[in-house]
Amino acid sequence: MSGPAFVTRFAPSPTGYLHRGHAFSALTAHEAARAVHGRFLLRIEDIDRTRCRPEFEAAALEDLAWLGLGWEDPVRRQSEHMADYGAALRDLSERGLTYRCFRTRREIAEAIESAPHGAMEAFRGAPLPPDQEARRVAAGEPYAWRLSLAAAERALGGFERLSFVEEGEGPDGEHGAIAARPQVGGDVVLARKDVGVAYHLAVVADDALQGVTQVIRGQDLFEATHVQRLLQALLALPTPTYRHHRLLTGPDGRRFAKRDRAETLRELRASGMTAADLRGELGF
Ligand code: GLU
Repeated sequence: MSGPAFVTRFAPSPTGYLHRGHAFSALTAHEAARAVHGRFLLRIEDIDRTRCRPEFEAAALEDLAWLGLGWEDPVRRQSEHMADYGAALRDLSERGLTYRCFRTRREIAEAIESAPHGAMEAFRGAPLPPDQEARRVAAGEPYAWRLSLAAAERALGGFERLSFVEEGEGPDGEHGAIAARPQVGGDVVLARKDVGVAYHLAVVADDALQGVTQVIRGQDLFEATHVQRLLQALLALPTPTYRHHRLLTGPDGRRFAKRDRAETLRELRASGMTAADLRGELGF
C-alpha cells in the first residue's frame, strides 16, 4: 500500500436501531476508505450507560454486516476506555481549563433565555469560589465538568489560528479551510460527575488514539467540529480532515431519526428489502 494513510471510522451510539441515515453514513465512509485502500474502523459510542443498550450494539453490528461492510477488529467500545478520557480531562483540569458547573439543565436554559437578545447563543459560566465549590462537592451535589472558553482563549492566545479542512460540505455550503468558531458551543460539558466523559471529549480522544485521518459523518455534526477542533488544539492532538455529508430525509422532508421505526434497517430487511436494494437506493 502506498500514499498517505487514510483512516476513517463509523461511530454509532447504541441508543436505538440503525436506520437508513446510518446506512448512508457508514457506506459513505466505507466507500471512501475502499476507494483509496484505506482503513475503515468501527467505534461504539456507548459512554452514556443510561441510554445505551447491549442489544442495540449487537443489532448495529449485525445490520452493518448485512449491509456488506467489513471493519477492523477489535471494535473500540468507548465504555472500555474511560481511563483514556479521564486522563484527557485531568490534563485540561490541571491547566485550569475546566470548571465544575452545578447548574441544572433548566437553570442553564433560563440563563440563556434571560440574556439580552442575541448576546449569548450558548452557555458560558465561571468556576464558583473555592469555598462554595468545596461545600457543594462535599454535600454530594451533582455537577458537570465544563470547558472554560475564556480560559481556553487565554491559553491559546485567541482562536484566530484555529481552522480545519472541510472536504465535504457544511449545512450552509461551507467547504475548504474553515475558521473554527468554538464559541458556537459555549462552555461545553466534558464530563459529568456520574458519567466520566461526554461526547466531544471522547470523540476527540478516540479519533486521535485510533489514528483517524478523515472524519466522515453527517452535517448534523458540523457544528460539533468547531468545538472538537478547539479540544484538539488544547490537548495537542492532530486534526483530521473532515467530510460532512448531506442528511437523508424522508418523503416528508424530515431527517430520519431513531424514532422512525419503519426506517430501521431491521424493519427494511423484514419487509423483504435486500442489502443490494438499499445500497442501490442510497447510491452505492
Ligand atoms: N456517535 C455519534 C452519533 O451517533 C457520532 C459521532 C461522530 O461521528 O463523531 O451521532
